[in-house]
Amino acid sequence: MLALGDQWAVVSCRYEPQQQTFFILIKETPALWQNLRCPGDESPMFCYDHVGRTSWKHLNIFNQSCVLQCDLPRAKCRLCGRVSRVKPPWEGRAKHFTTAFEAFALTLMREMPVRKVSQLTQVSDGRIWRMLLAHVEHAYSQLDMSNVSLVGADELNRRKGHHYLTLFCDLDQKRLLFATPGKDATVWPRFAQVLQQHGGHPRKVSHISIDMSPAYKKGVLDDFSHATLIFDKFHLIAHAGDAVDRVRRIEAALDSSRRSLLKDTRWLWLKNPSNLSDPQLQRLNRIDLQALWTAKAYQMKLALQHLYTLPAHRAKRRLLSWCKWVKQASLKAPRNVLKPMLRVALLIEAHLNGILAHWQHRLTNAFLEALSSIFSATKRKARGYRSIKYLTAMLYFSASKLNLPHLVPL
Ligand SMILES: [Zn+2]
Repeated sequence: MLALGDQWAVVSCRYEPQQQTFFILIKETPALWQNLRCPGDESPMFCYDHVGRTSWKHLNIFNQSCVLQCDLPRAKCRLCGRVSRVKPPWEGRAKHFTTAFEAFALTLMREMPVRKVSQLTQVSDGRIWRMLLAHVEHAYSQLDMSNVSLVGADELNRRKGHHYLTLFCDLDQKRLLFATPGKDATVWPRFAQVLQQHGGHPRKVSHISIDMSPAYKKGVLDDFSHATLIFDKFHLIAHAGDAVDRVRRIEAALDSSRRSLLKDTRWLWLKNPSNLSDPQLQRLNRIDLQALWTAKAYQMKLALQHLYTLPAHRAKRRLLSWCKWVKQASLKAPRNVLKPMLRVALLIEAHLNGILAHWQHRLTNAFLEALSSIFSATKRKARGYRSIKYLTAMLYFSASKLNLPHLVPL
């Protein structure tokens, strides 16, 4: 049942009622020494001595704990004299767990917080975390990035307003490639280095989808000068959504009749009409849209969103006429009420090529957006995570498609 082969054999098996634990004692057989070779020079090795008893937590038996034990031998090379501990075949990456137990715990960790896994398996969460780190570290080092050509980058704020992580994703294979602290230009050379460590190359990256932050833009220009820059659709629409909200606040401050018209409408403007509830739609229908600048800004945002459904050959002309429309309307509007929308138009004109590049591959950072929701799930799973190290490990575990042991198909 332990699949020990002929080099190891069970010596005894006893149950300790007080500890509610099965202890299975294992010893090496002479066959081990016939096949053992020095890792340095391939010479035969002989038994040098035995270290003290070591224990490995295994899968439960009859819902009772089970521990494998062995006085592990140390081997010495006949040629170079090197002495080394023999690694038994059941040992996992964490040294005190079996491979079967680790696969079980990793499978649980996909479904529940580490704290829960710790309770279920009766292993401290610190040890569960260390096991996860060991697996993620190893599997991540094997991650193949040789075919990465479409990259999306975005920031993830770890705790609101405080620490930032920049995430780099493979938009083609929908996986997280690299997470690193910071959100300035220095994250890009770090990513370039990681790519090369994993068989990829900055020159192979053909498209990069980012938001319009100048720091990101600089990073891309410096380290990925061959890539086409794509300004992400979601960010642009989010900018327009923010602008609608700002227009609403400016307009509400204009006079009391507008203020009463706009009362409690904040959420109406943030959603698309198709996502509004029936009462919200009724509320929207009661508003005299012609009378409000906010409604005008809202129409502008919807029109911008609609632009993204157009075919490529119409996109440029329509985008420019959208900007013209916004600029003319904001000239007519009193007291700069449409200024936030005007800023979006100027942003688009300044980044026109990057925005139009979207139409070449229809790339978006939707995967990164989805990752942020994984991230909030991660925050729950990693409740009590102590460091950025744990958090990145959990992100790689959840989203990098690592080759990790598991008991059920993913
Ligand atoms: Zn040797």
